[in-house]
Amino acid sequence: MGKVLVIGCGGVASVAIHKICQNDKEFQELCIASRTVSKCDELKKKLQNTTKTKITTAKVDANNVSELVKLIKDFKPDVVLNLALPYQDLKIMDACLETKVHYVDTANYEPEDTAKFEYKWQWAYREKYEKAGITALLGSGFDPGVTGVFSAYALKHYFDEINYIDILDCNAGDHGYPFATNFNPEINIREVSAKGSYWENGKWIETEPMEIKRVYNFPEIGEKDMYLLHHEELESLGLNIPGIKRIRFFMTFGQSYLTHLKCLENVGMTSIEPIMYEGKEIVPLQFLKAVLPDPSSLGPRTKGKTNIGCIFIGKKDGKERKIYIYNVCDHQECYKEVGSQAVAYTTGVPAMIGTMLVMNGTWRKAGVFNIEEFDPDPFMEALNKWGLPWKISENPELVP
Ligand code: NDP
Repeated sequence: MGKVLVIGCGGVASVAIHKICQNDKEFQELCIASRTVSKCDELKKKLQNTTKTKITTAKVDANNVSELVKLIKDFKPDVVLNLALPYQDLKIMDACLETKVHYVDTANYEPEDTAKFEYKWQWAYREKYEKAGITALLGSGFDPGVTGVFSAYALKHYFDEINYIDILDCNAGDHGYPFATNFNPEINIREVSAKGSYWENGKWIETEPMEIKRVYNFPEIGEKDMYLLHHEELESLGLNIPGIKRIRFFMTFGQSYLTHLKCLENVGMTSIEPIMYEGKEIVPLQFLKAVLPDPSSLGPRTKGKTNIGCIFIGKKDGKERKIYIYNVCDHQECYKEVGSQAVAYTTGVPAMIGTMLVMNGTWRKAGVFNIEEFDPDPFMEALNKWGLPWKISENPELVP
């Protein structure tokens, strides 16, 4: 039994908080703290009569370390689950360090002024966390997150060495809008308009955005176009999976999404360079976020499924072996259960599971770790229990 402080109350946090409340045997107390406290209060009101977990709320600016420290000292959580935006990661890590409380997040730190997806800033905290005797678990969402757990599980149970990993993220959901993003538009567009890259033979190969396209026949979904992107877990898996020769990440996009994105890019709306507008500095991408549908409003409209997983090729007892581990999630079933679509669901459930494992001591070591550095078995078991059952195909179709 323990206490968790969740920071942020957006799409992903809402699912994680529903799951924390379902898991009231583990989570005795929950404080939901965010910039807009009314969202926290609303969620508390919705959930407090459904759970034994005691819920409180607070207002916090996660860019302000002393505010965070005060909140942590007042509430005294065992673990802080950071579900604000990647820009706040380091401030929240600083506050956890000062108060000696464990830390969990789902996305690596990004400086606001450059779309750079790298772990170097957070890995720089390793020694400080070791000395403080606390755990930081980085990237406990789906990708990164479950994809790292699948990799550790494949290595532990199926391979002597893994040589190739293809991570495939397919969202076949249809929300009926010509253009909308399934999670925070600013973070999503920064990710997909950046250059692509993959890890091969110890180095990064860079591509133009959306340069590499493949068609893949996804189990339970069918054929979809997918594009190679850079993705943060490539960096940690490249280091943590021995024998790896190549890792790639592909995400599906429909033609309408890509046409709109190209147009928005061409007119400068996806830029993160501030411009002056009527005497006020604005960032075009932040303005675009303000006019796009709020991802949390997509839940009731989205129909279809997601399929996210990893194809592994490697060796077992001297022979080549290939397996595909994946999860299929249905947007409408997620909505029925927690009031959110599958993209938030597939991130919020693993966020709760990682937090639970750190909080109850199953995953506890001093320092800063990516998810594949822990024993995958308890996490894999919890995925089946908490709504993200996985399947293994032993003779999968490979990426052409
Ligand atoms: P949202 O924009 O829906 O939610 C972000 C929340 O953080 C909002 O409640 C926002 O407050 C709050 N927030 C923002 N800035 C601050 C601040 N300075 N102080 C306090 N609270 C703040 O984002 P999502 O829920 O879609 O994403 C949350 C995280 O999950 C992101 O880091 C994202 O990158 C990550 N993610 C990870 C995935 C994975 O698979 N690993 C997949 C999808 C997302 P307000 O309500 O006032 O705006």
